[in-house]
Amino acid sequence: MTTPQLACPLCQSTGFQQEEGRLDSKWGLTSHKMTLLICTNCRYILHFYDRNSIFDFD
Ligand SMILES: [Zn+2]
Repeated sequence: MTTPQLACPLCQSTGFQQEEGRLDSKWGLTSHKMTLLICTNCRYILHFYDRNSIFDFD
């Protein structure tokens, strides 16, 4: 399998800074692991709620 190349929708840069965080739901029942990818060129932030969902991006 090949990993899709993720590119910034604004500037087409493929350099990202990755940050991880957790997002608690309003109801306090679940918490989602959140991944932020910050474009190192223009600072545009892509956010994902599960690590695997990065690879669903198209
Ligand atoms: Zn960018």
